[in-house]
Amino acid sequence: MSKTVLLTGAAGYIGTWVCKYLLDAGYTVRATVRNRQKAERYAHLQQLANESAGTLEIWEADLLKAGAFDEAAQGCTAIYHVASPFFIKVKDPQKELIEPALEGTRNVLQAATRSGTVRKVVLTSSVAAIFGDSADMAAQGLSAFTEAHWNTSSSVQHQPYSYSKTLAEKEAWAIADAQDQWQLVVINPSFVMGPPLGPQPDSESVQFLRNFLNGQYAAGVPDLRFGFVDVREVARAHLLAGENPQAEGRHILCKEVLNLVEFGQLVKKAAGRRLRLPSSPSPKWLMALLGPLFGVTRQFVRRNVGYPLAFDNAKSRSALGITYRPLEETVGEMIRAIDR
Ligand code: NDP
Repeated sequence: MSKTVLLTGAAGYIGTWVCKYLLDAGYTVRATVRNRQKAERYAHLQQLANESAGTLEIWEADLLKAGAFDEAAQGCTAIYHVASPFFIKVKDPQKELIEPALEGTRNVLQAATRSGTVRKVVLTSSVAAIFGDSADMAAQGLSAFTEAHWNTSSSVQHQPYSYSKTLAEKEAWAIADAQDQWQLVVINPSFVMGPPLGPQPDSESVQFLRNFLNGQYAAGVPDLRFGFVDVREVARAHLLAGENPQAEGRHILCKEVLNLVEFGQLVKKAAGRRLRLPSSPSPKWLMALLGPLFGVTRQFVRRNVGYPLAFDNAKSRSALGITYRPLEETVGEMIRAIDR
């Protein structure tokens, strides 16, 4: 009999790849979506199931509804909790980001306990739960962030998405520590890139690359650094964390850190067409001046532009056995998938 697992956020950018790998491995996947009526948002999952050894079930569950995941979790051996709102520009961070992230974590993890059958929960957290601003690295005297570090500088007002991920992961550890039926393993990806499967998802990852392709950054980019990782490595890490009985704790997923000019060069090379992208970063004073026009606060500019950033990905390689493909390949395949 195939093992049954629950996957939240299955129709999203990362969730779809996790779903594909679970189906390919022969699992019965209970995929949750927010609205079962919107079949066009998850039709691609059935396509993946048809081409795999596994079985797909579509369940409806909202992160904000108490008990919404209880029935779907019944009889499952593992839960992959990927769903969480990922938006940078929000009007009401408490309502749009923090409540669904936190309430959703509580609801999904309570469903794990109530099921009586779940033994493993894999949570999609983020490096946003590890650090808040690039300035934190130097301020803490670090040469790189590791799984031992926590974001201490984000708040509802400053970097609310990062704050939502920090609160949600902390809550997950608190709930996990209060019971002994299931074990929690956490994946902390950096900025995820790589080809989306199915329809174009709303994910910030896709929008980010689109901005490079459509000339949005022609006038300039700040000296900002991000860690990048392929969506397939992130999905693979979820499966390895779910299946390996030795897997424990948190796992940073990051291939490499690039600044926006370096990332733009990679995009230019991979796109194979003319793109208007700057060859050097804009001065910080200009970014501080113009930041608010682009939805970036002066505080964000002050604490992130021009600072070094590094992540130690050793644990993902040694404990999970992740091997990272070149970022050039990741970006090239993503461009071919979305630049139509
Ligand atoms: P997407 O926007 O593509 O997916 C988000 C998913 O969350 C969707 O499937 C969506 O469901 C679900 N969701 C959002 N709000 C609710 C809600 N109220 N109730 C139920 N489901 C909800 O984003 P990604 O795939 O990029 O992100 C997935 C996860 O990965 C998130 O936890 C994010 O924080 C994390 N992450 C992402 C990174 C990235 O660079 N993309 C980096 C690090 C972490 P539906 O399909 O029904 O709309």
